[in-house]
Formats: sequence, C-alpha cells, structure tokens
Amino acid sequence: MPRRILILGGTADARRLAGRLTARADLDLILSLAGRTENPVTQPVPVRVGGFGGIAGLVTTLKTEGISAVIDATHPYAAQMSRHAAAACAEAGLPLLALRRAPWVKIAGDKWREVPDVPAAVAALGETPRRVFLALGRNEVRAFAAAPQHAYLVRSVDPVVPPLAVPDAAYVVARGPFTAEGDRALLEEHRIEVLVAKNSGGPATYGKMEAARALGLEVLLLARPEVPDVEAVETADAAVAWVERLFPG
Ligand code: NAP
Repeated sequence: MPRRILILGGTADARRLAGRLTARADLDLILSLAGRTENPVTQPVPVRVGGFGGIAGLVTTLKTEGISAVIDATHPYAAQMSRHAAAACAEAGLPLLALRRAPWVKIAGDKWREVPDVPAAVAALGETPRRVFLALGRNEVRAFAAAPQHAYLVRSVDPVVPPLAVPDAAYVVARGPFTAEGDRALLEEHRIEVLVAKNSGGPATYGKMEAARALGLEVLLLARPEVPDVEAVETADAAVAWVERLFPG
C-alpha cells in the first residue's frame, strides 16, 4: 500500500512542498484546493477541488481515501480549514503537520497598524476621504462599500464582479509574486495614501510592504486569526524532513 498524504493547499508553499515530495515514488500525494480562484495554477501532483463538508466530511474523506498523513499548508488566514484539519486528524488518529509561513515583522520605517478584522480596517480608514490600496481577497473587499468616501485601488487574483458600489474604484487583476519596484510604481501612479493587507508572510507579496515603507505610507494589517495548536513548521524543507521521519524512504 503506498502511503497517501493529503496536502491542504492553496498557497505557493503547498505547491512547492508537493513538488519536492514527488521525488518520493513510494508516496501517493493528493493536493486539495478550496476552489476559490477561477484559474488555479497548475500543480505538480493530482488535485481535488472543493470543501469536504466540515469536520465530519473530512473524516470520511480521510478514511475512504486511505490517507496516512495530512499536511495543512493552507493560507495563514484559512483558519477554519486548519481547525477542521486538526479536529478530523485527531478523530481519525492521523499525523498532522501545519506548514505556516512566519508573519512579517515590523522594522524601522514601517507605519503599521494592526486591526482585528476587515470591518475594523474599514472603520480605521476614518471619515476623511483617502486613497486606499486594498490587497485583499475579492470577497473581503466588499466590506469597503460601507466607506464610499474613499478612492480605492483593488488588486485581486480574480476580477471583483460586480464591482464595488463606490464612486471611485480602480482594479488590478494580478497574481504574485510582486516586486517592491513594481508595487512602488503602482502606489505612486495611483497616489495611494494607505494600504490594507493581510500579514501573509513570505517574499511573494512583501513588495508592497517595502514600497509602503519607502513612501512612508500607513499600512492597516489584518491580524492573523488563531489557528489550532498542532505540530508546525515554517518552510517546505522542514515539512519534507517531517515526512522523511514519518515515512523513511
Ligand atoms: P477557510 O475560511 O479556512 O475555509 C472555509 C471552508 O473552505 C473550509 O471549511 C473548507 O470547506 C473549504 N476549504 C478551505 N481550504 C480548503 C482546501 N485547501 N481544500 C478543501 N477545502 C477547503 O478558508 P478560505 O475561505 O479559503 O479563506 C479564508 C481566508 O484565507 C481568506 O482571507 C482568504 O482570502 C485567505 N486565503 C488566501 C489564500 C492565498 O492568498 N493564497 C488562499 C486561501 C485563502 P469544508 O468545511 O466544506 O471542508
């Protein structure tokens, strides 16, 4: 029986990890995507798409698919999936590893203000009209329609359809990685005064943080959600080492 590993993905780290593990012919890998993006990037291993149907559905999948171990390599803000993975693996008695990117850390020159959630970010923009860069998922930007006095530049992987119900909004549909130079040019072109972003960690989307620092702009950072207390590593290399220990080749 090949050892089957379920990788909960949706991140570049998950894709990188899956690619690294293909070197192990004795492992059978499945990468799971939520199905949020319209044109997901090609993955190096077989993919399944869509929710499992809560904790019970995930437990059923783990059993029927004969999964031997799970690696939760979802985005740090996909906390529900992480909670479900922890509960389902505990119930099914399976080993679970979380691969979680370390958050970005504030350095000299950063004007970061942490806010607990999206509504708090909307409120923190204030009453006075400002020019705002939203680097958030297309579903999260919807809340900013409650503050139509601001001018928005929205960058998302998929188009925001329908567009935000505000008088002044521009859109950039793009998938990272982004450079600091490119993001600085974008912020200057749109005369951005404040950014709203998640603390995703990793280099792919850090360019905007460097650009904000260079331009002296405020950044409203959504706090990371709480995730379950399970064994965790920060890099794909460390996750590969965990698999090597679990299933020596
Ligand atoms: P979530 O709130 O943790 O998950 C909601 C539900 O989606 C889960 O309960 C599960 O449904 C399903 N799901 C999530 N990830 C899955 C996966 N890898 N495979 C199968 N089903 C999955 O996560 P989310 O709604 O995807 O995202 C929450 C936050 O994370 C948002 O802020 C989003 O923008 C961010 N995010 C960012 C990225 C990125 O930038 N790469 C990727 C993903 C998420 P069932 O309960 O039915 O199993």
